[in-house]
Amino acid sequence: MQLREDIRNIAIIAHVDHGKTTLVDQLLRYSGTFRENEHVDDRMMDSNDIEKERGITILAKNTAINYKDTRINILDTPGHADFGGEVERILQMVDGVLLVVDAYEGCMPQTRFVLKKALEQKLRPVVVLNKIDRPNARPQQVVDEVLDLFIELGADDDQLEFPVVFASALNGTSSNSADEQLETMDPIFNTIMENIPAPEDNSSDPLQFQVTLLDYNDYLGRIGIGRVSRGSIKVGQQVTLIKKDGTTKSFRVSKMFGFLGLKRIEIEQANSGDIIALSGLEDINVGETVCPADHLDPLPILHIDEPTLQMTF
Ligand code: GDP
Repeated sequence: MQLREDIRNIAIIAHVDHGKTTLVDQLLRYSGTFRENEHVDDRMMDSNDIEKERGITILAKNTAINYKDTRINILDTPGHADFGGEVERILQMVDGVLLVVDAYEGCMPQTRFVLKKALEQKLRPVVVLNKIDRPNARPQQVVDEVLDLFIELGADDDQLEFPVVFASALNGTSSNSADEQLETMDPIFNTIMENIPAPEDNSSDPLQFQVTLLDYNDYLGRIGIGRVSRGSIKVGQQVTLIKKDGTTKSFRVSKMFGFLGLKRIEIEQANSGDIIALSGLEDINVGETVCPADHLDPLPILHIDEPTLQMTF
């Protein structure tokens, strides 16, 4: 099996305030994904000014970080139970999760809620014990609490072997041992690279792309976000959308986007393993599959159970 060693797709999960935003900011900063003279907003993941300018309302926050020769896609997950369905769909696009836990507070309700879903999907977690700089931090105890939670939630043997990184996202430092001096963000990056599997490379197979999240923009209309699970896709290509009821619609891919830092960038082609956004069809919905006309092979329907959607009826 060939792998796309140039990509890692992960979701970041945490209880609110445990430091997700600060951590992603530091990873971006340290990796130099931004040019030196580029202003880095203090709360980048929460700031979608670029999207606002272009009239995009973004549902899923995707940050792409270039580290050495690898692009790490980090998908943010809402911690609240109201977004359970969205969390599940986000988790379907990734090969592993970064679980951030405050080294003082320990596991909290949202830690449990999102971790349960990640474990159910057989994802491999990397645990980041954050805020290790806090004077009252109790890292070893919290690692034990995390292990207990994994056991309680039914983690398999592989998931129980989770690697741990101790970090101060605030200071931009991390280490694989609680007793050692913290260094740069390299320990976190290296732990991700070594423990989160690279996506399978099956670019030569027929295209298969499932719309996992929807976005909308005044200029482009509906935008389908998802992961290319098989094959490759190009701008201008004529493809077929398989609707939930099994009917099909042919359309031309008008624009495609990848991600860099916190921005979306236009791309011409994407291959298996890439997480992309595409436009060209007004009628696109979550759960539908895009395939070549001569190879219709829909992926299983995703369930959507957001109470917010149900309330509109
Ligand atoms: P999020 O809700 O998970 O995105 O959390 P934030 O990144 O917004 O962080 C919540 C608060 O914790 C902010 O006030 C951060 O400055 C603070 N914080 C984040 N990381 C650290 C850390 O490593 N050490 C300390 N002492 N505070 C941190």
